[in-house]
Amino acid sequence: MFQAIVIEASDGAQRVGLQSVAESQLPEGDVSVRVEYSTLNYKDALAITGKGPVVRQFPMVPGIDLAGIVEASSCDEFTPGDRVLLNGWGVGEAHWGGLAEKACLQSRWLIPLPAAFSARQAMAIGTAGYTAMLAVMALERNGVLPSQGDVLVTGANGGVGSYAIALLSRLGYRVIAATGRPQEVDYLRGLGAQEIIDRSELSEPGRPLTKERWAGAIDSVGSHTLANVLAATRYGGTVAACGLAQGMDLPASVAPFILRGVTLAGIDSVMRPRADRLEAWRRLGELLDPVHLDAITRTIGLGEAIATAEELLAGRVRGRVVVKMA
Ligand code: NAP
Repeated sequence: MFQAIVIEASDGAQRVGLQSVAESQLPEGDVSVRVEYSTLNYKDALAITGKGPVVRQFPMVPGIDLAGIVEASSCDEFTPGDRVLLNGWGVGEAHWGGLAEKACLQSRWLIPLPAAFSARQAMAIGTAGYTAMLAVMALERNGVLPSQGDVLVTGANGGVGSYAIALLSRLGYRVIAATGRPQEVDYLRGLGAQEIIDRSELSEPGRPLTKERWAGAIDSVGSHTLANVLAATRYGGTVAACGLAQGMDLPASVAPFILRGVTLAGIDSVMRPRADRLEAWRRLGELLDPVHLDAITRTIGLGEAIATAEELLAGRVRGRVVVKMA
């Protein structure tokens, strides 16, 4: 038996709890992993609270990220004792995920734990940090360089936002952080933000084009915020869109695209090909300072994950939450 957060549904209502589960109930997969650490992402919080349609079948063990040790394997690539890492691939949505002491997974979803990080550090980064890295890589690919001007990060105190600031700052960009929590200014400056703006400047309906303010942006907020971010992006700039913390809608016009040549780069971490994942984790290993990981991260036990999911959706969590298995 092992401990797991289990989400069940009946009569249209969802129940979630910490349960003892028999190993025979684990889904099929060619690699069994003893999970050491998982994390709580925004998507995990939506799954646990039932506030978003994340879970695609029940019962489900949430947890889109995990790091652990291979216990059994019937594939050539991994052998017992290997340290592995998983981000996404629908795990925690359609296949039992990381908020459990054990997982059974497809080997093609796993990558070796990067040498630069412990399992705890890899989960402190998790999908949030890996997505932030993918977003930074999109800016680079589209020619947004530190010499071209400021880069805006929205949702600055969140997981993606915190890592986006740390990575951009390390690469030499001047970072503007947009936040609804100005009281966290010291934290944001510690990550490398040079200017802090209130997110209310961006969150209301705005004009199709406004004064050019940034060469690029990483947006985890969507909705009016993304529309206003696009409207204030400099000629030829790029905005990497990866989230919907304000909303799924995009009430924008084509003006930034056709009058300023702005590029909107979509970022998906879930189904990202393996080569991109390996490259993103290699870059994270080069760029992230372990001191930042500690400043960004709080560690909780599996039994605290449900209450913390509510806090996360209420916007009361700063940075990242790592979940340590017993
Ligand atoms: P998080 O830790 O909860 O951070 C979200 C941040 O957004 C909050 O800390 C808050 O920052 C800001 N925010 C919250 N509600 C807002 C609102 N109504 N209006 C404006 N800003 C608001 O979540 P996360 O894990 O960083 O994820 C952020 C978003 O990216 C989520 O929508 C998530 O689903 C998405 N995501 C997508 C991918 C992908 O593959 N595309 C991967 C990871 C995450 P402040 O307090 O600083 O304002």
